[in-house]
Amino acid sequence: MRQPASLDFKRQLERDGVPAPAAGIDMDLVRDCIHCGLCLPKCPTFRALHHEGDSPRGRMWQIKEAALGLVAFDDPRFQAHIYQCFNCRACETACPSGVQFGSVMEMARAQTPPQNRRDRMVRALLLNGLLPHSRRLRTAGWLYRAIRALRLAALLRRSGIWRILPLGKFAAFPPVGDTSPRQVPLAALTPAQGARRARVGLLTGCIQDEMFHGTNRRTALALAMNGCDVVLPSTRVCCGALASHAGEAKTAERLAGATMDAFNGQGLDAVVVNAAGCGSNMKEYEVQLRNDAPRREAGAAFSRTVRDASEFLVEIGLRPPSRLIPLRVAYQDPCHLVHGQKIHRQPRHVLETIPGIELVEMKESDWCCGSAGVYNLTHPEISEEALAWKVRHIVDSGAQLIASANPGCILQIGMGLQRAGHDIPVVHVMDLLGWAYGDVSQRPPVVRQAMA
Ligand code: SF4
Ligand code: SF4
Repeated sequence: MRQPASLDFKRQLERDGVPAPAAGIDMDLVRDCIHCGLCLPKCPTFRALHHEGDSPRGRMWQIKEAALGLVAFDDPRFQAHIYQCFNCRACETACPSGVQFGSVMEMARAQTPPQNRRDRMVRALLLNGLLPHSRRLRTAGWLYRAIRALRLAALLRRSGIWRILPLGKFAAFPPVGDTSPRQVPLAALTPAQGARRARVGLLTGCIQDEMFHGTNRRTALALAMNGCDVVLPSTRVCCGALASHAGEAKTAERLAGATMDAFNGQGLDAVVVNAAGCGSNMKEYEVQLRNDAPRREAGAAFSRTVRDASEFLVEIGLRPPSRLIPLRVAYQDPCHLVHGQKIHRQPRHVLETIPGIELVEMKESDWCCGSAGVYNLTHPEISEEALAWKVRHIVDSGAQLIASANPGCILQIGMGLQRAGHDIPVVHVMDLLGWAYGDVSQRPPVVRQAMA
């Protein structure tokens, strides 16, 4: 009897010897997939597109074929299936075989030309043209906040002009984040309150620092209130997460090296990160730097010191804040925290430690909101479908406020709720903790009223 094609293919590889795989794809990681399909029910793009090629199993199969030269990396169908992936890594959590899907996908994307014009533009303007350049980013951040401060966002949104701009979706001005054009820089050292328990570095980041500078300040406060000296990096750096997830390997590698250098030699017990995508990326610098033998080991050592902010605070024993925030709060799991870093319990523990907060669970809190790095810019239609699911589940949860732990998710969900006409604020877990420790800045009205 004729064997199914998959068995034929595997036997052929075993019999004939595996052809030399494409450089840059680790075939050991690819072969971990046994094509069982248990990940399919957890894959948002499979649910949206109903196509095996847009499932984790289908993508692993195609990556193997491309690596072995059986399909071209620039085959348009291959490109579509690779770039239509959220890279949310929900399949990793579901997989019984331990497939490191995120790493394999990033290796595959590094070989695969961008799928469409939008993708090329996002890479040129944002990933390579803006984020790695501190001064340009400062100017763009100032402009963005100035437009929000002058309340021009709604006017510009209504004008429709942003639809013709390459990064139009960014310009939709979600109702979250900082609005003051002028930022008060964080101190190079925020000293520990009470007995010192640790000396930590804090990644302030690129987009995070421009749009959520207040969250960085409250993260530093929360760490200091828990006995940590908080040290900033010697220069402001982008960790390379967005570039890496998009397959811009060279840019990601360069930014990984710069980030390590910026924290080097400061005698730190840990490097704390409050952006899930950045933390996940920085915990995998060994993979990022796989082509740079001398730095690869240093990357692995650096990664061992990286902690998400909630993860770190729970690890050292969180000191409960004293101020009451009597609100019903739902937590949205960022993919790169729950699937990328396997951190599920700690942010919920932080929220439950804040007096007054009633934590409610929303359906599918660990499903991607469609932000997915730069995905909402490159593939807005599929992203919108995921966002619509998310908004529905948030509304059904009855929460008065949403907490999350990643700037991309906070922007995307804030925008989705605003467009659907729901006045439910989206904030970072560290915002709530900072307010409960006594910071009174930037509280949304519902928080101000609850704390009055
Ligand atoms: S990625 Fe894991 S769960 Fe999905 S098909 Fe492969 S082995 Fe099975
Ligand atoms: S990373 Fe997410 S979107 Fe991509 S295959 Fe896995 S589950 Fe599906």
